[in-house]
Amino acid sequence: MSSVRAAVMTAPGKIEIREVAWPTVPDDCFLMKVDELGLCGSDKHMYLGHMQVPFPVVFGHEAVGHIAKLGSKANDSMNIIGGPLQEGDAVIIVPSSDACHHCTMCLHAPDRPYLCPNREVHGFLNLSGPEDLRGGSAEYMIIRPRSWVFKAPADLPAERRVLAEPAAVATRAVEKALMPGLPTSGSGLGIGKSVVVQGVGPIGLLIVAVLRYAGAGQIIATDSVNSRLEMASKLGATELLNITSSNVAQRMERVRALTEGLGADVVIEAAGVPAAFAESLQLVRRGGIVIEIGHYTDSGAVEIHPWTICNKDLDVRGVWAYPQMQFEPALRFLAGCTLPLESIISHRIPLDDVAHGLDLMGTEGVLKVVVTP
Ligand SMILES: [Zn+2]
Ligand SMILES: [Zn+2]
Repeated sequence: MSSVRAAVMTAPGKIEIREVAWPTVPDDCFLMKVDELGLCGSDKHMYLGHMQVPFPVVFGHEAVGHIAKLGSKANDSMNIIGGPLQEGDAVIIVPSSDACHHCTMCLHAPDRPYLCPNREVHGFLNLSGPEDLRGGSAEYMIIRPRSWVFKAPADLPAERRVLAEPAAVATRAVEKALMPGLPTSGSGLGIGKSVVVQGVGPIGLLIVAVLRYAGAGQIIATDSVNSRLEMASKLGATELLNITSSNVAQRMERVRALTEGLGADVVIEAAGVPAAFAESLQLVRRGGIVIEIGHYTDSGAVEIHPWTICNKDLDVRGVWAYPQMQFEPALRFLAGCTLPLESIISHRIPLDDVAHGLDLMGTEGVLKVVVTP
């Protein structure tokens, strides 16, 4: 092979299929054959021009594949879970590199490595030469020092590997609703607790499945797309509310009817719509928890009454990305969950159709779109 085919985003709304020269692989790196790339909401946001990135970009961060060429020092230059690595190994790449361990954020909040501004994140980097094949929308990717690499667990079905990154997001959203302390204290998520999941796109669907796996009681899913709600029901949702055929007052009434008149113990906002956040404050019970995970990009403002947060004694918790080790519970969940998680993947498409794949996202009948370069 003399070149690598890559789908390169050159500007918002513009994707070119390019032949990039075959890269040389430094000793401290490895070359990964990309088997599958999950398309993510953030890829679509980039495509729609909602994100500042240094175009041209080989986009895509939900990449899984096999090691095609292993540099002689690669095992020492990165964080490897389940290693040592060998050529031919199936691997799952965490998009973010290691934190720098030196900046103010790293020194003050080492448990939140995703807040370090000195990380590099695959799929968001500038392409200026073959050594920058650092996104998943290509036949091959270079994995550089400071990367985090999980060897695919033997008990994880191959078709679920590509769900690792969204499962990291989903497991963290659910874990953030756990309350430190005794589970019998009545606060936070626990066995039998009621949860509303607003928005059941691929992330919301995985959140529903993680909640079911983790022992939640009522799981009430809301969305405007029927095919998503139907899938939420297959993954453990106990109540489906289509927001186009109900209003906020009706949804509040239904949630209260299902929760002894109180409201949900936890509400997880995964829709990324400002009005959904305002509604989350109404659907949650007094003393409850709201998890805000949907607004990865800024989609505007909404009117809320701060009194509600005060009066209900709410914990409102943001979730942005995850520590790299979040892939461990994510992979355990994907390996151990008996629900039909792989049916979240509704489309598998070739690299040449990637722009069409981005257009499909969010429409009726479309759940997770996966590219097979
Ligand atoms: Zn993602
Ligand atoms: Zn840092």
